[in-house]
Amino acid sequence: MLVKTEGFVLKSKKYGESDSLLIIFTRKLGKINAIAKGAKRPKSSLIAGVQPFCYSDFLLYKGKSLYTVSQCEPKEIFYKLREDVKKLSYAAYLVELVEATVNEGQTNNRLFNLLGKTLHLLTQSDIEMNTIIRSFEMNYLNYCGFRPELYQCVSCGKKESSNWRFSSQEGGVLCNLCFNQDPYAMKISDITLRLAKYLQSRDIVEIQKLKISDSLNENLKRILKHYILVHINKYDFKSIELADKL
Ligand SMILES: [Zn+2]
Repeated sequence: MLVKTEGFVLKSKKYGESDSLLIIFTRKLGKINAIAKGAKRPKSSLIAGVQPFCYSDFLLYKGKSLYTVSQCEPKEIFYKLREDVKKLSYAAYLVELVEATVNEGQTNNRLFNLLGKTLHLLTQSDIEMNTIIRSFEMNYLNYCGFRPELYQCVSCGKKESSNWRFSSQEGGVLCNLCFNQDPYAMKISDITLRLAKYLQSRDIVEIQKLKISDSLNENLKRILKHYILVHINKYDFKSIELADKL
């Protein structure tokens, strides 16, 4: 059976003499494993479209255990990401998060569109990197079913509190009367909470130029990192730690 679908190459590794083994996030089939036969040969017609991050039109043939790429037409290769090691590392982070949550046969159009928009934003110059990455994380959590509750206490439902803490374990904010329930609940300032709500409710393209101060970014980054660690299994953050250091 042949299937035509768009997809992002999440991973590509050499397989045998001249083939590539790919993990592709497709619009129609969710995440799949596919083999691109001969893709490592210099004259292969597949060579351009099977690079990591590449957004391509694929024609796929379903075999017993894996798909075979019959044709592949690149739509956007995100060449600019390959010229900048910091951007490349952030792109690797986005792709790893997506890989960690999407399963075979599970489509996720909103996440698919978010990944495309974010990779595209990363290729531009003079970007607000903190804004783009934090906005991606907030929207990614929305679309993967891990949206944290930021508007009311996850324990008692109260909407007002003199101060809030964020509980990864409980999945959102705890009010001043409830935050003893989670000894690991983290301090979240009012302004960080406001920023998180804002990012959670806005499209990444719309807010791409927003400037976030370093201290605010650090606070939100730490909270999201802990939250993702608790909820997204097996994610180890190597790529973003590298990106942050560059
Ligand atoms: Zn409460």
